Amino acid sequence: MLELAKYTKELSNHLNRAGNILLICHVNPDGDAIGSQLALYHYLVSKGKNVEMLSPNYLQEFIKWMDGVEKINIFIKDRAFCRDLISKSDLIIMLDFNQSNRLGEAEKDILNSKAFKIVIDHHLNSFDFADLLISDPSRCSTSELLHEIISGLNGKPFMSTPYAEAIYVGIVTDTGNFDHGSYTGATFRTIADLMDTGIDRERVFNLVFNNFSADRMKLQGFALSERMVVLEKYHTVYIFLTREDLKRFNYRKGDTEGFVNMPLSISGIVFSAFFVEKDGYVKLSFRSKGSFSVSEFADKYFKGGGHKNASGGDHYDTMEGTISYFLDAVRKEESSIINSSIR
Ligand code: 5GP
Ligand code: MN
Repeated sequence: MLELAKYTKELSNHLNRAGNILLICHVNPDGDAIGSQLALYHYLVSKGKNVEMLSPNYLQEFIKWMDGVEKINIFIKDRAFCRDLISKSDLIIMLDFNQSNRLGEAEKDILNSKAFKIVIDHHLNSFDFADLLISDPSRCSTSELLHEIISGLNGKPFMSTPYAEAIYVGIVTDTGNFDHGSYTGATFRTIADLMDTGIDRERVFNLVFNNFSADRMKLQGFALSERMVVLEKYHTVYIFLTREDLKRFNYRKGDTEGFVNMPLSISGIVFSAFFVEKDGYVKLSFRSKGSFSVSEFADKYFKGGGHKNASGGDHYDTMEGTISYFLDAVRKEESSIINSSIR
C-alpha cells in the first residue's frame, strides 16, 4: 500500500500555490473517473479554490444525475473553450488513468500545457507523462484512494452529500457493487465514513444500476443469444457487437457497460472479451478470473492496459480482422489462460 503522507504534503503545496486548477478524467469516463473528479471538485470548491473540470469526450447516461456533472466541459464539444481552460490553468490533476492516450483528442493540448501535472490513479504499469504520480494499484478505485488523500489534506474525513455520493459511485462502479475488484477492509472503512453522512445508498444504487432503457435490456439479450461465442477449449468467451447491432437497439452511450462481466459466470470460463465496433476501430474490454492477467494481454496485443482482471484497449481494424487477431492472441496465450488458477 502506498505511503500517502509524503504525497499528501506535496499535493497540498501545489494546491496552495495554484491559481487555476483543472481536473481531467479519462476518455469514455466511467463511474470512478467521474466520481473521483467530482469528489475532488466539491472538496476544492469548499476550500475556495478556483477549479474547472474537463472530460475528453461525452459522459454516459448513468452518471448524468450526479451533482456538479453539468459543470464538466466536454473537449470534443467545446474545443476552443476547453483549449482556453487548459492554457489558463497552472495545475492540472488527472484522475483514474496513467497513459496519456487516455486523454483522447485532448492529449496534445494537455501534454503541451505548461501547468504542473499530477496523476491520481490505481492502475497497473504507471507511465511518466506527469510531474507527480500518486498511484496505488492495491486500491479498488481511484475514488477510494482519493478519499484517503482528501482526509489527509483536510485533517479529517471531508463530508458533504455531493462529495460522499461521488466517492460512493466511484467505489460501487469499479467493484460492480462489491462483486469484483480489489476491495479491502479499507474500502469498507471508507464506505462507513460515507454512510455516516447519511447518503441514500438505495437511491444511488437505483440511479446507477437500475436506470436502463428497455432497448438496453433487449441489446443485452441479443448480445448473449446471438453474439456470444464460447471457446470451450480455451476457457474463453467473447461477445461482439457491430454498429448495425447498436443501431437496431437505439444504442445510447453506456448501454454496453457490464456486458463483458456476464460470461465469467459460466462455469469454467476464466477469460471474457467484449468487442464493440466504433468509427474505424474496435473498442475492446477484457475480464478474467484468477492468475491470467488481462492487463498484460491488453498491453501486449492491443496497446491497452488496466488491472490484472479488468482491462481494455483499441484495435484499428474491422470487426472480422479484430476477432481473427484476438483468436491468434488467445492461441498464443493458451497455457496462461487455461492454467489461470481460480480460488
Ligand atoms: P472497461 O472494460 O470497463 O472499459 O475498462 C476496464 C479497465 O481497463 C478500466 O480500469 C479502464 O480504465 C481500463 N481500460 C479500458 N480501456 C482502456 C484502454 O484503451 N487503454 C488503457 N490503458 N486502459 C483501458
Ligand atoms: Mn478506476
